[in-house]
This record gives sequence, structure tokens and C-alpha cells, in this order.
Amino acid sequence: MILKRLAVGALGANCYIVGCEKEKTGMVIDPGGDAAKILNEIRNLALKIETIVLTHGHGDHIAAANEVKSATGAEIAIHADDVNVMQDRVLCDMFGIEFNPVQRPDILLKDGDSIKIGELKFTVIHTPGHSRGGICLFGEGVLFSGDTLFNGSIGRTDLTRWGGDYSVIINSIRTKLLTLDDAIIVYPGHGPKTTIGAERRGNPFL
Ligand SMILES: [Zn+2]
Ligand SMILES: [Zn+2]
Repeated sequence: MILKRLAVGALGANCYIVGCEKEKTGMVIDPGGDAAKILNEIRNLALKIETIVLTHGHGDHIAAANEVKSATGAEIAIHADDVNVMQDRVLCDMFGIEFNPVQRPDILLKDGDSIKIGELKFTVIHTPGHSRGGICLFGEGVLFSGDTLFNGSIGRTDLTRWGGDYSVIINSIRTKLLTLDDAIIVYPGHGPKTTIGAERRGNPFL
């Protein structure tokens, strides 16, 4: 598996470029800004990007989605419950983030959907609590955890108008993520990678 992390946008969100070594096809997870930087890396890796997956609708994870789509022809996928938050400019204004929503996502995701990239396969895990339609992507020994689970922390839950809810995120993590194998490597939406085992043992919120 080809895997490249780029920190993008004003909040330094993690954008991941994931590719199949054999077929040279790929996906982009959370193109949150700096479209030129993302597109440059895609060219360096010589990948044909088929899918753009948004772990949730917050501006720091989606701001370059339209540009990456028009440059690559990839389809944009997001959970149905986060389309509204993506299209609400209040949150972007609140954090001083560029407002550049996707008007019509190509794919509306739900729990259990699978996303195939060449020979790679990932499963959508719906993990509400940071936002209503937040998802993680699980497969190939790794978990892309968006803003649900971080190295030593969890996503903020104070944005209640958009689905932030502490008990809901804790429930999502406990019932859907901590049930995964300890060895699974976690790539979060901000900050360094971790593992399920390290978070199970050391995350003060869990
Ligand atoms: Zn977020
Ligand atoms: Zn974020």
C-alpha cells in the first residue's frame, strides 16, 4: 500500500493519499486545503485518484475537495449526515477557515459500505460524536480515524449544534474502534499516528 501524509490548511489537518502499488490507483482522504501541494504529491506518486473520502464535513478537512476533484476526476464521498454541516458557512467563519463546500457529493456513505482502491479494500465505520456524520475508514491493517480518535485525545464535542456530543463519541470509540485489534495503526485527522493498543492503554479519555 502506498500511504503519504500531508499536513494541509490553516489548522494543519492530515490529508492522506492512499494507493494500490499494483494498479496505481488511489484515494485522497480529507483534502483540507493546499490543493497544489496535494496535486503535486499525487503526480509524484503517479496515482490515478478515483475517490476523495471526507471523514466529516468540517472545513479544515474538505476545503480543497472541489479542486482535487476537478484536477483528477475523482468522486467525492461523505456520510449523508454531514452534508449539512459541510454546507453551513457559520463554522468556517467561526474558525477563520476558507468556505469551499462540495455542493453535490457523488457518493453518500453509510456504516458498513466498502471502498475499493485497486486491490485495497476499506470499510466505512460511522462514528458520530464529533459531528453527526463522522466516519472512520478501516482496512489493510490501518484505521483512518478523522477527528474521532487522536493520539492521546479524542475529537472535540462542544460543537453541539452540528452533532458534537461527548457521550456519543465515547460510545462510538468504545463500541466500534476499541473492538479492533491492538496492532491496527491509527492515522488521525490531526497530529501523529498511533495504534489501537496504545490508545486502549494510554488515552486519558477512554
Ligand atoms: Zn472536525
Ligand atoms: Zn479537524
